[in-house]
Amino acid sequence: MTLIFFGHNFRYEIEAVAKLFFPVRAFEFMTADGPEGVGEPFCFLSRKEEGGAAELYVCAKIGGAFAERRGSVNPSADYEHECELSLCRMMYECLSTLTGIRPEWGVLTGVRPVKLVSRLLSRGMNEEELCGYMARELFVSPEKTRLALEAAKNQREIISAQPKNSVSLYVSIPFCPSRCAYCSFVSQTVESFFKLIPEYGLRLCEEIEITASAVRELGLTLDTVYFGGGTPTAIDAGQLDMIMKKISNSFDLSALREYTVEAGRPDTVTKEKIDVIRSNGGDRVSVNPQTLSQSVLDAVGRRHTVGQFFEAYALAEKAGFKAINVDLIAGLPTDSCDGFCRSLSGVIALKPQNITVHALSVKRAADLMRSGGALSGAGEAAKMISHAEKELAAEGYRPYYLYRQKNQLGNQENVGFETGGTAGIYNINMMEEIQTVLAVGAGASTKIVANERDIRRYYNPKYPLEYIKRFDETVAARKKEAAVRLREVVEGK
Ligand code: SF4
Repeated sequence: MTLIFFGHNFRYEIEAVAKLFFPVRAFEFMTADGPEGVGEPFCFLSRKEEGGAAELYVCAKIGGAFAERRGSVNPSADYEHECELSLCRMMYECLSTLTGIRPEWGVLTGVRPVKLVSRLLSRGMNEEELCGYMARELFVSPEKTRLALEAAKNQREIISAQPKNSVSLYVSIPFCPSRCAYCSFVSQTVESFFKLIPEYGLRLCEEIEITASAVRELGLTLDTVYFGGGTPTAIDAGQLDMIMKKISNSFDLSALREYTVEAGRPDTVTKEKIDVIRSNGGDRVSVNPQTLSQSVLDAVGRRHTVGQFFEAYALAEKAGFKAINVDLIAGLPTDSCDGFCRSLSGVIALKPQNITVHALSVKRAADLMRSGGALSGAGEAAKMISHAEKELAAEGYRPYYLYRQKNQLGNQENVGFETGGTAGIYNINMMEEIQTVLAVGAGASTKIVANERDIRRYYNPKYPLEYIKRFDETVAARKKEAAVRLREVVEGK
């Protein structure tokens, strides 16, 4: 599709809205005062200004069918943003008319819809006004607005209990036992990078120590610890124990509200590793089958069995964690709506405290399709997600955090559900960007939050080898920069 601009350059948002209708298509961009001579499909978006006001016009042609919209924006402090939003809405309406698709999140393309909802509520909008605004101005469906609203309300208690001057620690273990075909995460397989793990562990411990000394010096409270990956349990029990001990020896953990270790791949979970996690203070784990269909696991190259998931889950359950999370993915290649519903029922039957339902990211799925996998349709994925949200609510699970990724199948979302007051604090803090996260390890990014509008990020090298080799020159230097900024934030500068 060709996107033709005139009188503005709102390329980023407009492309994002176009992608809601054509997720895997590449777009061509051009500037012209009309669409004449441009081949189909196209969308033309124009702004003409007179006396500070804007006359807006959008038209689109797809498969011989034509749609157009006109609008205007008066001068205001938010003029540019208003013009951009109006053009996006007009394009949404044209493309919706021509394709028959009505993306449920409307023109909202950001990853954090709950943040928007919380902001609107905090500005004094009541729920009715909020629902009206989301439908009228942003074209969000009532179901998605309700979901975001519920998540915002469920987060409130946790957010308000956040200790002052607290930070979270994220520990990156970017290794996996093998690579799943749908994954775009920067992780390295243990098979090929096995030799790096001991040195990686040592460097990681060094970075933990540097980070802890900054936290001590500034008198900050460590609120949560989160081990993510990759698959943190891909490394052996001794290495995991060394890293976790380094944390407990370097930080004051007495005020910790939560300690999570992702044990994502069931084939990496052993009793020894579960014991290491428990004995070092870990009180939450995530064990993720993604589906309970063996044929789907095989089709997506996730090299473990359904039986291994149940074994890993039983080990975690016996260890008495405060919460176990189980991840499922809707829309995996070769899966069906019935198959997904069976997976969901199988997971619910285990009664985990948390269940997170993801919609497959289409970009990754497109790679799978090229390699021969049959992909669920967007409508199918939407049905799966809608079924999951209803079924989980009926079983007493409440949505508590929600995020969207680019190119998700059917323009759906990822939602974390909890039961019994076991919401993951780190997940909320991270997603809503309300707390500083000090991150260690390859691919990790430290995020220093001064306030909603002032968030600075400090990135570590992406790959373990790069991280090890450039530790002294890059990692240590970035830690220093981050510590300076952290001090400024603590001192209110
Ligand atoms: S286990 Fe997770 S992070 Fe690792 S390759 Fe598979 S999907 Fe990606």
